[in-house]
Amino acid sequence: MTTPPERRALLKAVYDEAKGCLRCPLHETRTTVVFGAGNANADLMFIGEAPGANEDKQGLPFVGQAGKLLDKLLAEIGLERRDVFVANVLKCRPPGNRDPHPAEIETCQEYLWRQVELIEPTVICTLGNFSTKLLRGDSTGISRLHGVPEVRIVGARAVRLYPLFHPAAALYTPRMLETLRADFERLPEVLALGPPQQPDPVEPAFEPTFEPAFEPAGEPARSDLLGPIPELEPEEPPPPIEPEPATQLGLF
Ligand code: URA
Repeated sequence: MTTPPERRALLKAVYDEAKGCLRCPLHETRTTVVFGAGNANADLMFIGEAPGANEDKQGLPFVGQAGKLLDKLLAEIGLERRDVFVANVLKCRPPGNRDPHPAEIETCQEYLWRQVELIEPTVICTLGNFSTKLLRGDSTGISRLHGVPEVRIVGARAVRLYPLFHPAAALYTPRMLETLRADFERLPEVLALGPPQQPDPVEPAFEPTFEPAFEPAGEPARSDLLGPIPELEPEEPPPPIEPEPATQLGLF
C-alpha cells in the first residue's frame, strides 16, 4: 500500500524525468514541460489534449480560458483543483496549438501511463477526442461517447472512464457547454459508484520496453559506442525528498 507522501514523491520523480524530456521534436519549441498538477492521491483525474500558450509559459495545465471554465464546472459540483489531478496527453505544446501528431502521442504516452499507475484514480474524465481515443484505444469520437461512464482497463487497473467534451470546444458553442455542464452534474454519481472491480493481477509475459518513435536527440546510447565501457562512478546517495514539491509541478 503506497502512502500519500510516497505517492507524491514517486510522482515527483516522474516529473523530474519529464521536465528535461528530449524524446520528440516538441522540446525544441516548448518553453516548459507541462507535466500535470493537482492531488497526487486524487480519486478523480482529468486528461486533456496538450498545453496551450498560457500553459507552456506557466508550466501548469489548464490555466487559460478553458481552465477557468474547468474550475467553474468543478466548483458547481463542489470540487476544486486541489481535489483532482489534471494532466494532458502531450506534455509539451504543439507549435501554434496544432493537433498532436500520432508519433508525439506515441512517444509521450508513457508519462501518462505512469501518472495513472501512480495516482490510481477511480474515475478518469477524458476531455475531448485525443485523450478519449487514446484511453479507449479506438477511434470512436467524443460526440458519441460523452457523458456515459464505462469500466476500462488502463495499464493494469480498471477505472471508470467518463468522457467529456473538451472545455475549449464548449467555450464557443453554447449547446456544447450545456451538454458539458449536464455531464459534469452527473460526475458525483459516477464517483459515488466507487472503484470498479479490479482484474486479477497477471505476471507480465515480458518486460515492456520503451521504443522511441523519434530518433533520440543528443548523445548516442552507451551500447552504440565502440570501445570499453569506463568504470562507473560510485552512485551518489539519493537527495532527501523535498517537503514541498516545485511550484511548477503543482502537487497538493
Ligand atoms: N487544453 C488542453 O487540452 N490542455 C491544457 O492544459 C490547456 C488547454
